[in-house]
Amino acid sequence: MELWLIEEHTPGYSVNWKIKQTIHTEKTAFQHLAVVETVDFGRALILDGIVQVTQTDEFIYHEMIAHVPLFTHPNPQNVLVIGGGDGGTVREILKHPQVQVDLVEIDARVIENCRRFLPELGQALEDPRVQIVVADGIEYVKQTEKRYDIVIIDSSDPIGPATGLFSQEFYQGVYRVLKADGLMVAQTESPIFNKELLSGVYADLQELFPLAYVYLTCVPSYIAGFWTFSLASKKYDPLQPARKPSLAEGAFRYYTPEIHHATFVLPPFVQKVLKGNS
Ligand code: SAM
Repeated sequence: MELWLIEEHTPGYSVNWKIKQTIHTEKTAFQHLAVVETVDFGRALILDGIVQVTQTDEFIYHEMIAHVPLFTHPNPQNVLVIGGGDGGTVREILKHPQVQVDLVEIDARVIENCRRFLPELGQALEDPRVQIVVADGIEYVKQTEKRYDIVIIDSSDPIGPATGLFSQEFYQGVYRVLKADGLMVAQTESPIFNKELLSGVYADLQELFPLAYVYLTCVPSYIAGFWTFSLASKKYDPLQPARKPSLAEGAFRYYTPEIHHATFVLPPFVQKVLKGNS
C-alpha cells in the first residue's frame, strides 16, 4: 500500500509527499509531531502537518538563516536562537568557533526527537558551547538580563505557539536583548503565500531599527520554493559584511560571499509586497 503525506497549505493548494515509512508520531504539549522517511527528500520533521526540515534541502535554509547575520557582524560572540529545536541553525552557527549559543525552544520533544531521528541536525545541540532553555521565546526576550550580538528567530509558521513570534511586541523584546551594535534575522515565510505577514514584519522592523532588509532564497520543500528572511540591525549593514568565510573548504554547500550579496537583490514583485501593495 502506498503512503502519502498530504501537506495542506491553503484551501486551494496542497503538496503530496510519498512516504516510505512513518518513523515516529506523537502529540506533544504544543503540537502534533512526526518524523517520516520520504521517497525523494530523505527524512523530514513535520509539525502540525507542515514540513519543517528535510534532509535533502535543509542546508539551504540553515546556512542562509545563520551565515548572513554572522558574517555581517565583525565579532559575533553571543547568539540567541528562538525556535530551531531541530538543531540545524545551531549546527551552522557553531562553524564560527568563537560563538556561544543560547537556544530557546518551546517544545522539548522537538529537541529530543531530532537528536534521536535527525542526528545530523540534532547532535549540534550537544556541543558544550550551546545552552538550551525550554521556554516560550516571547517571554524569554521580555525577561532575560542577557544581551546578544545576534538573535535568530527560526520559528515555525505563524500558527499555534509561533504566532506571537511575528508581532511587533516580540520584536521590541528582541531589540531589548540585542547589544548596541546587535542585529537580528527572522524567517518570514513565502513572498507569494504570506504577503501581508511579510510586509507587516518589514514595516515593524523598519519602525524599530535603523536598518531593515528582506532577503530571498529558495527552499524547494517549503511552499512554492521562494523563501524570505527579514534582517534588522542597529549598526552593521549586511550589504557590507564585515567578514568572509575563512573556514575549511567544504564547510558550506550554499553560502558564499557572492550569494550573501545576491540574496538581497529582490525581484520587483517582492519589492512591491514590501511596499504593502501586492
Ligand atoms: N525551519 C523551520 C521552518 O521554517 O519551517 C522551522 C523549524 S523549527 C523546528 C521551529 C521551532 O519553533 C519548532 O520546534 C517550534 O516548537 C518552535 N517554536 C514555536 N513557537 C515558539 C515559541 N513561542 N518560542 C520558542 N519556540 C517556538
